Amino acid sequence: MVTTAKQVNEHTRQSFVRRKVVTDPLSDYVIDAIMPYYPKSVQVIGAFVDASNQYWKTNWHWEFLLNRLKLFQTMDIEKKYRDCAKAIESVLTKSTPNPAAGYLKSAMGIPKDKSSRAEITKRWAVVRQSKKDFRRVLNGSKVLDGMEVKTKKTWLLSVAPIARPGRSKHSTGYAIDLYGKNAEIIEISKKLGASLVYPEGSHVHVEFAKGVAGKPLPSAHKAPTLEVVPQSIVYGDDMCMMSPYEYAALKEDARNAPALDNFSETGGVLRSLVNILDDTLGEDWW
Ligand SMILES: [Zn+2]
Repeated sequence: MVTTAKQVNEHTRQSFVRRKVVTDPLSDYVIDAIMPYYPKSVQVIGAFVDASNQYWKTNWHWEFLLNRLKLFQTMDIEKKYRDCAKAIESVLTKSTPNPAAGYLKSAMGIPKDKSSRAEITKRWAVVRQSKKDFRRVLNGSKVLDGMEVKTKKTWLLSVAPIARPGRSKHSTGYAIDLYGKNAEIIEISKKLGASLVYPEGSHVHVEFAKGVAGKPLPSAHKAPTLEVVPQSIVYGDDMCMMSPYEYAALKEDARNAPALDNFSETGGVLRSLVNILDDTLGEDWW
């Protein structure tokens, strides 16, 4: 395919990829291929995540969400929202990893959680629901209104959907998370022929399954098959997909929340979720 993306050559690998990002040969290839096209303000914040680190990521999000719930309760908000946050916190702490903390400040994979994969998958379901609940509380409380974009993005990350462990497209190597001005990232990524561009409030998830700027992925780096966790271990199929009812409710929320249009450059988490559902995707996200 013909690409119209222009090389701007503003990055070195060091300036383009954040220090803690983990890569594999395929994501290295993709990163090098896309690097010339993105401006200085755009950075890679996520790339390759293997199956075991996807379980670890559930704990990262668990700890991050818990911290945000606590911080939220110290803010100048109506009591009813504080009570909601407290309730979500108590649900979340019933599914505590072992050790209970340290995921946020360490490199990916550290500390090692002693919980079994089945237990972590259960925790993922709790985190997923808690994020949905907290998103409603955040929106209702209006604390994000007028907040500086960078800070707002950190809150949006706390309520961003998270892939079921073992199911993330980040295990393929061709999925890259980009941080910067979302609209700009979306435009450039589409011009580069991305197979998927998913705007999240906090960042943009981009997949290059079909290569970059007309060049196919090297066959030597064929994307590995995703590990699939047997459903029977923990929950039925209904736990990993949103039900039609939830979907309808979410769409309704997005329609009835015009304020969300100012939530972020891309229109907010709810709209992102509606987009993701419209594209019949699973969840992902970092
Ligand atoms: Zn991603």
